[in-house]
Amino acid sequence: MATVPRLFVTAPLASGARVVGTGMQAHYLGRVLRRDAGSAVLLFNGRDGEWAARIVALRRGDAEFAVDTALRPQAAEPDLWLVFALLKRDAIDLVVQKATELGAAALVPVITERTVVARLNESRLAAIAIEAAEQSERLTVPMLHAPTRLPVLLSSWPRDRGLFAALERGAEAPLRRTEGPAALLVGPEGGFTPAEVEALRRHPLVTPVSLGPRILRAETACLAGLALLQAPPSG
Ligand code: SAH
Repeated sequence: MATVPRLFVTAPLASGARVVGTGMQAHYLGRVLRRDAGSAVLLFNGRDGEWAARIVALRRGDAEFAVDTALRPQAAEPDLWLVFALLKRDAIDLVVQKATELGAAALVPVITERTVVARLNESRLAAIAIEAAEQSERLTVPMLHAPTRLPVLLSSWPRDRGLFAALERGAEAPLRRTEGPAALLVGPEGGFTPAEVEALRRHPLVTPVSLGPRILRAETACLAGLALLQAPPSG
């Protein structure tokens, strides 16, 4: 049986609703998957759960769906943010895709003293996050924040959210599963500067953590950390 394509849309989803898809979705359904009017799709919008729907029209650059029945109610993702120093294009694409699969609720790029990358292609990253959400059967797409400088981020950090700062080469306790709002902070390729490590250690909401004895690439640290933060309870 052919798998049913799963698509993110922005419009409200309710029984009987008509929803318009993007040009990319029309291309994907028509040209890549060779689907046509009448064929089934699954739709989600991050608010109304997941719905069974049908293609009613498929034209170049444009798709229209009819929404039938609700399949899954909306459910929250784990309340985990990933705060990561801006990385080079391939690494950041990987982090956005995999962090979405791993359930991150928000992706927060940060600029540190040793961050070498200055720009972020937000629309490309948003498209990667949407595709990963569609593929991984999430009901939401992670929020992609605009880049912030580390001191600004630390001075405005929300009081109810613990920030686990991944620090290599230290004697930090290992990162463990956590309940409730939390965030993981990972530094750039060159690591945090001594002054940044100091500021992190002094911050009342920051817990320095280790990800093990090896020095991981920043992108590996992001993904290993997200997995550890939501590891199932043992026993
Ligand atoms: N160039 C640095 C390593 C930076 S690794 C050096 O050689 O020391 C990039 C980022 O990944 C770090 O800033 C840290 O946040 C994270 N990281 C990598 N390995 C880690 C580990 N074993 N424990 C905790 N954090 C780690």
